[in-house]
Amino acid sequence: MKAWEANIRKVIPYVPGEQPKDADIIKLNTNENPYPPAPGVAEAIRKLAGQPQVLRKYPDPSADVLVSAIARYYHLQKEQVFVGVGSDDVLAMCFLTFFNSGKPILFPDITYSFYDVWADLFRIPYECRPLDAQFRIVKEDYYKENGGVIFPNPNAPTGELLPLSQVEDIIAHNPQVIVIVDEAYIDFGGTTALPLIEKYDNLLVVQTFSKSRSLAGMRIGYAMGNPALIQYLNDVKYSFNSYTMNQAALAAGAAAVEDDAYFQMTRERIIRTRERVKGELSGLGFEFGDSKSNFLFVTHESCPAEELFQALKKAKIYVRYFKKPRIDNYLRITIGTDQEMDALLDFLRSYLVS
Ligand SMILES: *Cc1c(COP(=O)(O)O)cnc(C)c1O
Repeated sequence: MKAWEANIRKVIPYVPGEQPKDADIIKLNTNENPYPPAPGVAEAIRKLAGQPQVLRKYPDPSADVLVSAIARYYHLQKEQVFVGVGSDDVLAMCFLTFFNSGKPILFPDITYSFYDVWADLFRIPYECRPLDAQFRIVKEDYYKENGGVIFPNPNAPTGELLPLSQVEDIIAHNPQVIVIVDEAYIDFGGTTALPLIEKYDNLLVVQTFSKSRSLAGMRIGYAMGNPALIQYLNDVKYSFNSYTMNQAALAAGAAAVEDDAYFQMTRERIIRTRERVKGELSGLGFEFGDSKSNFLFVTHESCPAEELFQALKKAKIYVRYFKKPRIDNYLRITIGTDQEMDALLDFLRSYLVS
């Protein structure tokens, strides 16, 4: 081993779902929205492309156009909103800013697999609390002394929603630390904890434009909380990179938030498709919880998940499979268009009878 090897920050990186180049693949593996972003988004980007003199300059470090649009939409003060390069960037900044007590932070054993990666990267101790047999968060598991709490609601990759009253119980039992509720999927049928930021100064609600607003490619995420927390996040951001958000992302994000009618229409469409597909999958021998997200987490009564994953892949239908304890017989299937889901169902129907 080279002498310098001892002083390298070694990490085992997060592995995102595959992004195949082949255009005829039905892609149900990374929870992207199957519908395009609001029409105003393309228009905003076209407008920017027509003003190269604007691109010459650095973007607004305060990201005001986007922060203002988000604040207006949720009836918040601008001082209550922080934006970043996808919620992954926002969450990483949160870990760095808020989890410094030396005590273990708490999150579920089955959850977004980036949490333990950030904890390891920043040398934050952590403890995973097991979900119950139905893959539900047990709120009492988060009442013990800790260095911070984070969980997605709905949880990923299970899709299970923790009722708002239980989310509040967890926040109320943790006044000494910051509690982060990662609401990447909240727009698909959950109730946001956002109103609770007025009542609890230790709460941060994190959301993203990647799923419900069809903008995974632009990388836009945001955190909402009391102005002191947002200020601390901005201090860390400005100590890291003043310009995390580029001009195109700022313009696209602002345009997306402004079109609420389009947002409601696409969100409802996905929910409708999800509920229909639940019925069809039940008929094919699949079991799953009552997902309130844009994906289903399913297991089959007789066919092993890994086998199905490979068979689907061969048929050019990509879903997500996690070879991990407790969930290695499950598939996470993103809700696509009705047409995409019908192709999936047709394949499953013929595969499972043969
Ligand atoms: C998708 C996802 C994110 C990150 O999304 P970004 O694209 O970085 O905004 C964060 N948390 C959970 C639980 C997710 O599923």
